[in-house]
Amino acid sequence: MGRDRKSYKCSLIFNKIMNKRIFSVYVNLQDRELNLPSYLDNSKFIISICPSSIRDGTFSNKGIEEVKKLLEKGCLLGQRGYIGRCRYPHKDGIDPWHENFCLYNPPISLESQLELMTKSKEILKKTFGIEPIVYAPINHLYDENTLSAVQTLKYNFMMDQNNFGINPYKQNGVIIIPESKIGDKETSKSLGIYSHVDMLRKRKVSDFVKRIKLILPSEFKPENVPEHILTMNEIQKRIKKHERDLKSLKRKHNIK
Ligand SMILES: [Zn+2]
Repeated sequence: MGRDRKSYKCSLIFNKIMNKRIFSVYVNLQDRELNLPSYLDNSKFIISICPSSIRDGTFSNKGIEEVKKLLEKGCLLGQRGYIGRCRYPHKDGIDPWHENFCLYNPPISLESQLELMTKSKEILKKTFGIEPIVYAPINHLYDENTLSAVQTLKYNFMMDQNNFGINPYKQNGVIIIPESKIGDKETSKSLGIYSHVDMLRKRKVSDFVKRIKLILPSEFKPENVPEHILTMNEIQKRIKKHERDLKSLKRKHNIK
């Protein structure tokens, strides 16, 4: 994919100087409303919701109205999976919070993923009157079937984890936006950044967001990213997930 290593590094430096970021705010399953801090009043960003929290009534009418107001002022609606949880039971105690791709079980078919994503897309459309244009796989875990489903269902953007300062790029007609959680060490060189709603009032998040200019994905032209960088990013993502699962199993069974 046409860019050499030198020019790729240049784009990272460019981002750092410009200090523009694409920001995603994630609503967690237990959140009842947004109650956003005032520093976000005049900003545009992606607001991503798990449709099951609307289906189950956890996300309140007040929360729904708050999201509607954000969409009216130009924020983008993101779909954060469906129920958030893996279809395989994970009785072993590892983290079950993934939906499109499980590291420990057979892949979820394209048909199943399409069915799941269509059903959940409908919930958001019915609630907010517009379709989500961003798909955010839970824990950034997805596979080729997810990408095909995202393309078939005509989302414009899909979120991924950013471990190597990767700028948004296009794959199968979908713009992939790699992002880092504010506070993680990768944040300094990531154009895409995110925070969960309940973290927005923490100093490390508010100080960071107040210093930057938030832009929408449409304001950034996707770049070509070398294939090896994308492969490394995927490997790093899986390593992190494996490490996290290993750590929690060790903790659970008191193994040093
Ligand atoms: Zn799983």
